[in-house]
Amino acid sequence: MKMPRNSMVRVGVMSLALMFMIWPMFGCAADTVPALDMRPVLIEPEPLDNLRPELAWMTKDRVRVAWIGGGISGKFPGTDKTRGQVLVDAGFNLIRMSIGVDKQDRTKSPDLKSKLAADVKEARRLGVPLLAGLQYGTHHTEPYRKYRAPTGVLAERSCCPLDGVYIEHHLGKWAVAIAEAGADGVVIDTEMYQSDESSYPGPCVCDDCFNVYLKAFSNDWKTMYDRVTPEERGKWLSANKATAHYGWYLAKRLEDQYDGIRQRCQAANPLFLLAHYHILGALPGLERGLGTSEVPCLVLNGSEYPQGPISLSYQNVRRIREGGIPALYLPGLWILKHSPEAFSGHALTSSLYCDGWWGWYAEALLTQVGTDDPAAFKSPYGRFEGTSADDFLKSLTAMHNRLDELLAKPKDQWPQLKTFPPPSTGDVARRRGNITIDGNLDDAGWKHATRFDMKWDRFGNETGPPTTAWICWDKQALYVAVNCGLDDDAELYVPSQGRDNVNLYMCDGIELFIDPGKSARRYAHFIISAKGDVYDSMMTPNSGGGIYAPPNWNTIFGDPDWNAGAQVKAANTDKEYYIEARIPFKEFGSTPAAGDVWGANICRPRPPHKTWSATYGGFHSTDRFGELSFR
Ligand SMILES: [Zn+2]
Repeated sequence: MKMPRNSMVRVGVMSLALMFMIWPMFGCAADTVPALDMRPVLIEPEPLDNLRPELAWMTKDRVRVAWIGGGISGKFPGTDKTRGQVLVDAGFNLIRMSIGVDKQDRTKSPDLKSKLAADVKEARRLGVPLLAGLQYGTHHTEPYRKYRAPTGVLAERSCCPLDGVYIEHHLGKWAVAIAEAGADGVVIDTEMYQSDESSYPGPCVCDDCFNVYLKAFSNDWKTMYDRVTPEERGKWLSANKATAHYGWYLAKRLEDQYDGIRQRCQAANPLFLLAHYHILGALPGLERGLGTSEVPCLVLNGSEYPQGPISLSYQNVRRIREGGIPALYLPGLWILKHSPEAFSGHALTSSLYCDGWWGWYAEALLTQVGTDDPAAFKSPYGRFEGTSADDFLKSLTAMHNRLDELLAKPKDQWPQLKTFPPPSTGDVARRRGNITIDGNLDDAGWKHATRFDMKWDRFGNETGPPTTAWICWDKQALYVAVNCGLDDDAELYVPSQGRDNVNLYMCDGIELFIDPGKSARRYAHFIISAKGDVYDSMMTPNSGGGIYAPPNWNTIFGDPDWNAGAQVKAANTDKEYYIEARIPFKEFGSTPAAGDVWGANICRPRPPHKTWSATYGGFHSTDRFGELSFR
């Protein structure tokens, strides 16, 4: 292998330096600072086991959502049928339409008064539930409390997700008004919430969130509060091993907040549905707040848009069931990206193997319906190139009829899930020869280590610059080295640094997943940057009596205060970078013996994405971890 020229070697010592700075600071103060009483945060499982009989159709027929912009009472072009009728005829059994508020005066919604009544009336006539969309935005001029990340950064635009005034002003009030106006539910759109560049590296530590937490778990909160600067709060939580606990507490508070909104809506209509769009778990606690064991929260997930249901989709369904989350999981499909046949195929698979599906942007099935107007195929709101609305509607009608037939039959007569090539497998050699962790891979030990080519992108295509890993093990530790080539015109990109900074995933580097015993339930997650900084977390989704909520936003769930004690060094040239790591088994709670098989994957998080075992979805797809056999 090519080695870096000495003059170009850069060694990642930042993480070590940072740790020495932090620990003594809090360590010395430990005698005088009162301790946190981290009693467990109780998040009770609420499985969907008591579904209201009026909603039995949701699991029996699956939920088939059309997401449209306009209402349903207007006419479909060139016919006497209403837009709603056309959607119901095509087999949709739930419709989500937009409802706007006055951007100048958010206390008013002209649409709610002028439009909704006619649409509710039409929905009653058709017997289809009608949901109104609500946007959870970031661009507000009002002085709402701002989100502060555990990294210390105060967001410029994003609000604290627990700012009750904000939530009431933009969601609570409107949800109740919509329930009272007779609609059957709301869809809260949280995607805009994530548009801020802060990208949510953990639960909010704004003055209020931090203060409320300390008051709940310390009898001398004021002393603690005054001693820790706002910028240091995340580090302080980490030093006290409280990051996950803090995240659970915030998830519980968020759940309670939305519980309150749901109760007010369901006082007007006990069957009122509260759905959210974007990503399962993106706002921890939201699903439990919006749903109950009688009336589910509908998760309109956005990860499946371009390619249809993926391995992660089925994993998410399992996560909901095992975690006792009162939700139904619906993958979204993007009308622009699929031919009518492919689109219907994905919708059928989602309906059979998840809880239904939803079409975006289904307004494209109702407007510019012919093939002569180029605007009909414009991204992102248009249809698949060259298709008419009727092409889609016919295909969907046939698909929904077939779905009805299949659902009446035993599962073994359903079309089988598309099978992917099996996950990668490999033997891991014992370490023979020394390995010094210095970012230089010429040690004797690496010559006898097992070589793993990371040749796949996430979807099993061979692409991108050469990327190779070597792994070996001894009684104490796993040794991992990687050599990642850079594209000709690419420069090393490492904008984030520091210990346990989840934003390292945006850097050149690797993500490493190690699943002792191949449990698919508990695994270590490492992000190692090309400068040698390390984020490590023990992931235990669904553990602890149904706690599923990530302490970090963006569906990352786990305990970032878990530290593997890995020794890491990185180096680079302008053509490639190297990472060398020794990871002790001690903190895994399990040490392999010869013959044992563990799950694992190694990925490059920044494009060009590369994997050892292609995931066909997100890197956290435990079903797609490869198998490491210890020899
Ligand atoms: Zn906050």
